[in-house]
Amino acid sequence: MKVHVANHPLLTHKLTVLRDERTNSPTFRALTEEIVTLLAYEATREVRTVEVTVQTPVAKAKGVELAKPHPVVVPILRAGLGMLEGMTRLIPTAQVGFLGMIRDHDTLQPSTYANRLPEDLTGRQCFILDPMLATGGTLIAAINYLLERGATDIIAITILSSPEGIALLEKEYGNKDLSITIVTGALDEKLNEKGYIVPGLGDAGDRLYGVV
Ligand code: URA
Repeated sequence: MKVHVANHPLLTHKLTVLRDERTNSPTFRALTEEIVTLLAYEATREVRTVEVTVQTPVAKAKGVELAKPHPVVVPILRAGLGMLEGMTRLIPTAQVGFLGMIRDHDTLQPSTYANRLPEDLTGRQCFILDPMLATGGTLIAAINYLLERGATDIIAITILSSPEGIALLEKEYGNKDLSITIVTGALDEKLNEKGYIVPGLGDAGDRLYGVV
């Protein structure tokens, strides 16, 4: 398993505004999209391509285009939905699947309440979108879902991650022969007793869409 912490002053600047409790939902949503586009640029470094040749007004030029089948993007509802636009801006032809997962406030255990994914993910590059890698439970459940459907190449994009979450993923997948990569905007200090990332940004779903 690979972990890539994107390190860029522009990203850190945007993350700082995102963390600020005074930032309202419309600004939070707009910033999330911008941050995801920056992270997606890093996360798609190894996106599969094929060589093509085009005719310029002057001569033939060799280039590449995305290999088919195109990648699958899987936002984890609810908060992952706020990341979708930023991702599809970069890969407009990606297929989009959905996973609805919720974690119990007391046990912190995730459960799946909805899924809409291709049955067969064999040979597909899959990008999971979940803003907060906290305990790691939700992300592991989501990755296992995709693995069961044949995916072998999975990249998770998270805005913030906790050391505890990364450690749990390492324990789960570290010595398995799978291509799993985490691309994150920042590795924070720790989790608190309620499973929130510290310093974090609070509840990402609430900050994106309000408390429901
Ligand atoms: N989910 C969130 O939205 N925030 C956290 O800090 C942890 C999990």
